[in-house]
Amino acid sequence: MIERRPTKQIHVGDVAVGGGAPVSVQSMTTTKTADVDGTLAQVYALKGAGADIVRITCNDADAAAGLAEIVPRSPVPIIADIHFNHRMALAALEAGVQGLRLNPGNIRDEKKIKEVAIATKERGIPIRIGVNGGSLDKDLLAKYGTATPEAMVESALMEIRYLEDVDFTDIKISVKNSHVPTMVDAYRLLSDTVDYPLHLGVTEAGPIPGGIIKGVAGIGTLLLEGIGDTIRFSLTADPVEEAKTGRALLEYLDLRERTGLDLIACPSCGRAEVDVIEVANEAQQKLEEAGLAIQVAVMGCVVNGPGEAREAELGIAAGRGKGHLFIKGQVVRVVPEAEMVDALVDEGKKLVEEGIEARLAVADANAEQIAAAEREQLLTIQGDANRARERRARVAEIAEG
Ligand code: SF4
Repeated sequence: MIERRPTKQIHVGDVAVGGGAPVSVQSMTTTKTADVDGTLAQVYALKGAGADIVRITCNDADAAAGLAEIVPRSPVPIIADIHFNHRMALAALEAGVQGLRLNPGNIRDEKKIKEVAIATKERGIPIRIGVNGGSLDKDLLAKYGTATPEAMVESALMEIRYLEDVDFTDIKISVKNSHVPTMVDAYRLLSDTVDYPLHLGVTEAGPIPGGIIKGVAGIGTLLLEGIGDTIRFSLTADPVEEAKTGRALLEYLDLRERTGLDLIACPSCGRAEVDVIEVANEAQQKLEEAGLAIQVAVMGCVVNGPGEAREAELGIAAGRGKGHLFIKGQVVRVVPEAEMVDALVDEGKKLVEEGIEARLAVADANAEQIAAAEREQLLTIQGDANRARERRARVAEIAEG
């Protein structure tokens, strides 16, 4: 269980951020904001993929006008992304957005920032101070030479001061960088300095898979340390992938309840009795189509499979031309290899409807016996790797005297 660092709580529409609220997933649309229907279609797709909050650029008057139509029809709270022009922030507020993101690197006029903060406070919505290593305040770049963690945190603190000066405290902060170690250090420093909720992200992480790897390394590291209240993966890909990845990361870290399939599969090895990659892919596709939010294991051999995946709610391991279907490590049915995946999906549906105990109670009485006999046969053919390890240890013991 991850112990999360305490932060102040704010609300983006009906989504609580910080103060012990579930870590939320954000993403950003890639459509032109003036294209209302296209943008709304993407917002709905993002929500379907797991986004709790969606950010939309408000970069010109047409975009602001688009927001006025998008916000009332959106299924999730909308944050307007503002750069350079503080009037776009004022226009977005009028359009009814549930949050603003300001970049302190390119709106640097204290008076204008305070004007936005006062107008935002009147509407009772939050502002994210979105510091970005790639667009850091020029004076700070001159002072630090580059976007160091200290420079990014100083930028955030300066902006916080402007907002607090006009009694604005509905703040969340991000200090994103495309270099993962810098990003991690910046957030650690920020978390030690303020108690405002933090929005985590590795900026400009790039295409899949590299972008996902960077995001998981940076965001995952911080989440495991209890840092972070809302997250965004910045991928050069369909933003639906950002939402899916963010949601999956939170579920794998037990920070959100599972809403989708968790497929675990062995990497395969010389003992595999089937093409594990093919079976795992087919199983993933069919189980996702069936909408089953359970943990399922696909294992390449019956010798080690059921034991190694005994924590999985449901699994299948390949025998000699057969599939051993198991629930919590107990073999409940042995099926022909060609029917493995369909049997897995069928059992998955029943498991979700009836529960683990009920399904174990109707297990095929002979399944364990058949499975044990097959395991023995395979051990005879392939050799017993486990006992070989024991023998090796004994040999080493004797050799060392
Ligand atoms: S489950 Fe079997 S096939 Fe898969 S990695 Fe383990 S020993 Fe190899």
